[in-house]
Amino acid sequence: MKSFEELGLSVDTLKTIKAKGFEEPSPIQEKTIPVILSGTEDVVGQAQTGTGKTAAFGLPLVELLEEKSKHVQALVLTPTRELAIQVAEEIHSLRGKKHLTTIPIYGGQAIQLQLRSLQKGIDIVVGTPGRILDHLKRKSLNLSSITHLVLDEADEMLNMGFLEDVQKIMNHTSKEKRTMLFSATMPSAIMQIAKKYMNDYVILKITKDKPTSNLTEQIYFEVNEQNKFEALCRIIDIEEDFFGLIFCRTKIDVGRVANRLTERGYQSDALHGDISQSLREKILNRFKKRKINVLVATDVAARGIDVQDISHVINYALPQDPEAYIHRIGRTGRAGKTGHAITFVTPAEYRKLQFIQQKAKTDIRREKLPKVKDIIEMKKQRIHSRLEDIIEKGPKQEYLQLAKDLLNKNESENLLGALLQHSFRGELDEKSYTEIVNTPLDNSGKTRLFVGFGKSSGLTRKKLIDVVKEHCNISTDKIHDIQVRDKFAFISLPFNEAEQILEYFQKNRNQSGLYITKAKKDQGQGNQKSSGRQDRPKRQGRSRGQENSRKRHRPQR
Ligand code: AMP
Repeated sequence: MKSFEELGLSVDTLKTIKAKGFEEPSPIQEKTIPVILSGTEDVVGQAQTGTGKTAAFGLPLVELLEEKSKHVQALVLTPTRELAIQVAEEIHSLRGKKHLTTIPIYGGQAIQLQLRSLQKGIDIVVGTPGRILDHLKRKSLNLSSITHLVLDEADEMLNMGFLEDVQKIMNHTSKEKRTMLFSATMPSAIMQIAKKYMNDYVILKITKDKPTSNLTEQIYFEVNEQNKFEALCRIIDIEEDFFGLIFCRTKIDVGRVANRLTERGYQSDALHGDISQSLREKILNRFKKRKINVLVATDVAARGIDVQDISHVINYALPQDPEAYIHRIGRTGRAGKTGHAITFVTPAEYRKLQFIQQKAKTDIRREKLPKVKDIIEMKKQRIHSRLEDIIEKGPKQEYLQLAKDLLNKNESENLLGALLQHSFRGELDEKSYTEIVNTPLDNSGKTRLFVGFGKSSGLTRKKLIDVVKEHCNISTDKIHDIQVRDKFAFISLPFNEAEQILEYFQKNRNQSGLYITKAKKDQGQGNQKSSGRQDRPKRQGRSRGQENSRKRHRPQR
């Protein structure tokens, strides 16, 4: 396994990767990056979305493209607009200090906006075939000088009937360009495209089929990104003896989840690549001795952990590929014991889960998250059985004497109630759980936040942006769809940034004076101008189509 440093990337890019929290290249990155950087051949890569394939071509693109170019340098074709947005954002986040502009171009977004952005000059266009073809016909897009063409999810583009459009688009591109084709599957139609339209090419594959252990019960829960933490707490709480490993993608996520667990009173710790060897050993020792029962880790940091009797492996984030899935869940269900492998899947990740199931030759069953009532009931039963155990063994003499004294002075029911309250504090309080509602992601997968101040308290768009930038170090281009009303405001941000803001403002509510929370369903999604009553968050019956056509995507500089 190679490190990012060994792949031929520049120092600046290595810094960007570090800042993103990637610890080591994913298998497709390890194979693809050196070939794209130092070779000249075209590339056919077999990889699914979720395997890190965007960075596999995005990082070399950032390295190879020139600044201040006068023409579009790269085109990435994707089958869906969601993927176009996602890929454009990922490439944008990889550009580091390099002045490269990326824009998603897709049907459903106002063409005028796209025309304006294209006129300004764009380096990397990520788009769906239909809309790209529209622009070519209008001559608002010139692909004659591109140096790189990426066909992303090529099999999906074929399935969706885009072959003809893709061929037409290719006719508008320069002959000298390098083409990179990525596809989850390699049916013969894909190989024919490669043969017909690509120059000398190399095929890079990453997946090997391996069956999983059958003593592990594998289930998945459908959870939106913003509900994962609450879901995790419920899963831990419903178990009598939870002793588990939680896998996150990046060290930043690992730190965040572990901190939140500790704040909520769990015995937990974090393992990732930035933790020194001596601290790592200490943490692992505490885990082995069960002084902590929840260990949050990246795949890299979890490598080589040899701990027996792990009851649960939780994929807080989907693993990059089927092999990583098998590797992760192989930590439980060992030595004849039954283990539980739980995977959180967001609605957008379904296809990837199916791919993992198929490749890992495994069956992952869907289940519903435990309800708060059931968890509380379970906790009560546990209290019962623990007390009965002690009674059976006979309580220690010093406690028996104390019990006699207390009973002399108090009603037994009151006394026992007080004792339970003292011992279990908020454990049986339903309010310690938050409701799992699918809070709205807007059309581009962003989280909408509600700010409890508005114009009447002197809040302006600029002030809101400044506060967010100052306290959470979030760049302006991450902040979208700001609405400042009289008594409150809304902003949208990508999930991670939104979580960062929530975390900060929840901790520092008193100092900052700002109240920020997740917007409830339907809040702040509407058109400001149509509102006569601007003081109350409004429920609006706006259809998805209408919403989509309002979505803006500025070129990202
Ligand atoms: P993709 O397969 O391109 O859709 O990537 C899926 C997710 O994995 C994205 O959120 C990436 O930011 C993330 N990712 C890509 N490469 C790595 C890596 N080497 N380590 C950790 N996360 C990564």
